[in-house]
Amino acid sequence: MPVAVHDELNVYASAEARFETAAQKLHLEEGVYRFLKYPDKEITVYIPVVLDSGHLEVFVGYRVLHSSVRGPGKGGIRFAPDVTLDEVRALAAWMTWKCAVVNIPFGGAKGGVICDPEKLSKSELERVTRRYTASLCDWFGPERDIPAPDIGTDEQTMAWVMDTYSMHVRHATTAVVTGKPLDLGGSRGRKEATGRGLMICCDKALKKFGLAPQNCRVIVQGFGNVGSQASLLMHQAGYRIIGIADVHGGFYNEKGIDIPKLHDWVYTQRKPLPDFPGGGEKTTAQEILFRPCDILMPAATENQITAQNAHRLDCRILCEGANGPTTSHADPIVAKKGIFVIPDILANAGGVTVSYFEWVQDRQGFFWREQEVNERLQDIMEQSFDQVVRYAETHDVDNRIAAYILAIDRVARALKLRGFYA
Ligand code: NAD
Repeated sequence: MPVAVHDELNVYASAEARFETAAQKLHLEEGVYRFLKYPDKEITVYIPVVLDSGHLEVFVGYRVLHSSVRGPGKGGIRFAPDVTLDEVRALAAWMTWKCAVVNIPFGGAKGGVICDPEKLSKSELERVTRRYTASLCDWFGPERDIPAPDIGTDEQTMAWVMDTYSMHVRHATTAVVTGKPLDLGGSRGRKEATGRGLMICCDKALKKFGLAPQNCRVIVQGFGNVGSQASLLMHQAGYRIIGIADVHGGFYNEKGIDIPKLHDWVYTQRKPLPDFPGGGEKTTAQEILFRPCDILMPAATENQITAQNAHRLDCRILCEGANGPTTSHADPIVAKKGIFVIPDILANAGGVTVSYFEWVQDRQGFFWREQEVNERLQDIMEQSFDQVVRYAETHDVDNRIAAYILAIDRVARALKLRGFYA
């Protein structure tokens, strides 16, 4: 099982490189290795949509089911202009490992549509979403493959997915998708869940190092669902957020940034993040990563920390809110700097964990109080954090490979119990 040399910015190759290292450490049998390496199935759909102008556009969409060994496929739908099939493949595989790290009964899947949501009107986005969902109606299902939001999609998108699927199967099916609005079978605490999970991981890491949130300076790249909720919750818990940026740029401010005010500016007043008055010294989305801090939280997109720039990191803890923000080529440089990494498949698993709670609640038709959701999330994140750190010590590997080993081991054991249907 040689570890292939690959193009650093190909996220699928990056995901494979980690998988192969972990598989070797685990002494995974050749057949099982091959089975887990490739996706179960993948599909490309062509989505004809009449734009508001009357012009007919055909968008390209993907859905990849990486694994259904431990349960139905689970994973978000990304709307972005640069979505590729390789990216969706990588994200689907990461969902398999992520669900296994937190031990919830799902496999892994992911979807994407090549489009720019910032350039489409709301009704155009609705038509893209509905036609994409209609094309995949036989593929999706509460027992088959359950989508959720990701970059460029939100609660409203998920409501359209639910409605389209329900119209096709002729009955309201809330459990076919998660991340829905509360009024439509959504779960309390889902919106904050990924951010909350990130904070729980940071709390655990701080305890390990004997630090308190009050003495901890945090930089967050990305101010979307993940970055904004993580920074809001961490600000409330006493962490000092000294840097924040979205794709258009942001601020560095040693005294700390007023995150609730910034949230209001961006999400209530709908104004550009870099125009926020009194934010601090202006900086770019890239440069923010290299300013001194205790916790660096990339929560935007892939390939932000690479072999070319990893030596510039100036943090003690790297907590990955985004999927794949660090390339596999950067891993050894980050390790050499002694940075404690909380890898994506552990750190941002709070979102899928509460998605699992949402699916459970929808199927029961019985909804939990927010406190119950948060307590259950806390238990799962803390246990998973401890398990990953223990695996790292036992197998003498870094936290990322430890998380992969834990996950691959769980999926491989389920696979062997099921056997191979012929
Ligand atoms: P989002 O679309 O809500 O927000 C993305 C944010 O990143 C925006 O603030 C955008 O301006 C910023 N951004 C985009 N490209 C950037 C760049 N090159 N440099 C700096 N900032 C950039 O997306 P999200 O749901 O917050 O997801 C962010 C990341 O977290 C993605 O990697 C996603 O896969 C991952 N993730 C999301 C969830 C979830 O529950 N939404 C769960 C787990 C992981």
